Amino acid sequence: MANILVTGGAGYIGSHTCVELFNANHDVVVFDNLSNSSIESLNRVQELTGKSLTFVEGDIRNSEQLDQVFALHKIDAVIHFAGLKAVGESQQLPLIYFDNNIAGSINLVNAMQRAEVFKLVFSSSATVYDEANISPLNEDMPTGMPSNNYGYTKLIVEQLLQKLSIADERWSIALLRYFNPVGAHKSGRIGEDPQGIPNNLMPYVTQVAVGRREKLAIFGHDYDTVDGTGVRDYIHVVDLANAHLCALNNRLQNIGCRAWNIGTGNGSSVLQVKNTFEQVNGVPVAFEFAPRREGDVATSFANNQRAMDELGWTANYTLEDMLKDSWHWQKQNPKGYGDI
Ligand code: NAD
Ligand code: UDP
Repeated sequence: MANILVTGGAGYIGSHTCVELFNANHDVVVFDNLSNSSIESLNRVQELTGKSLTFVEGDIRNSEQLDQVFALHKIDAVIHFAGLKAVGESQQLPLIYFDNNIAGSINLVNAMQRAEVFKLVFSSSATVYDEANISPLNEDMPTGMPSNNYGYTKLIVEQLLQKLSIADERWSIALLRYFNPVGAHKSGRIGEDPQGIPNNLMPYVTQVAVGRREKLAIFGHDYDTVDGTGVRDYIHVVDLANAHLCALNNRLQNIGCRAWNIGTGNGSSVLQVKNTFEQVNGVPVAFEFAPRREGDVATSFANNQRAMDELGWTANYTLEDMLKDSWHWQKQNPKGYGDI
């Protein structure tokens, strides 16, 4: 049992990870500025687990707030989710993204070092891979220059953390390269609640199904894929949450910095996702074909062998599970946490 600081713990992946941390009998301190989340997610984490967490409203760019957290709580390791993630916005507001994601992460590791906490799990992304790599992507393939500023911040933070761990052997850092997180806790009490128009496929699909949006625009149907639409590796958020626990266990016993892909290893096209969603949930999803979205690749899916071999992690949920659970959450919470 350890005491874990979870930055960004009120968000989509963070809240699901808090549930799994509690299920594994860890203690949890959440540090979040609530810029893209609601405190209600944490109320529900506590309701689901029957455990109470410590919540600190704060910003990772604020050293004093971080120092105070480390002074008040004996933290064993940090899982670092806090950051901004909207690809389009990152093109319009690069400095905000550099500040939150890069400067914020540097600020966090500085505070960790002052507090002598050297175990870190970082939320990275499959977007760091060079676009020229052919899927399945493995961790030995080269990283590239991401096509957007959001992806660039993930690559830079990965590189900074790698250099930090080479310079100072006390560090033990896991870089988890997420593929496409979807789904929700099976209770339907916590889930993804994007602000405004969703950027990602799954919340868009569920919002069309629930009547909040008219139709899904499928970006491109002339890719060299099974049916012309883009192929991605969708991973259930609970499987992803559990990967953090596996990484934590690994990092509590090892030093250095290492990357792991967290995906199922299976690719699904946009049309397959839409059609399967309709089948398993019995609800229609109106759609139209639209031009390709700038920066999108045709196909991206993981080779997840390293995570299975080294972390003892496996993905347990199928695409059908993911689509049922996403819908269960959306149906019960048509306006997300805004319903309360
Ligand atoms: P999210 O927006 O739901 O959660 C991020 C949380 O961080 C939010 O609660 C937000 O309020 C908080 N936050 C943002 N800036 C902060 C700051 N400066 N100080 C303190 N808190 C701050 O996003 P998510 O989908 O749960 O993603 C979590 C992490 O995983 C992010 O770093 C994201 O970039 C990364 N990631 C997400 C995906 C995805 O598709 N969801 C894919 C790859 C990587
Ligand atoms: N996509 C789509 N319509 C949308 C959102 C996404 O057709 O409204 C497609 C997108 O082109 C990609 C897939 O769905 O092929 C997954 O996109 P998402 O933004 O969810 O993830 P990412 O681009 O990060 O893989």
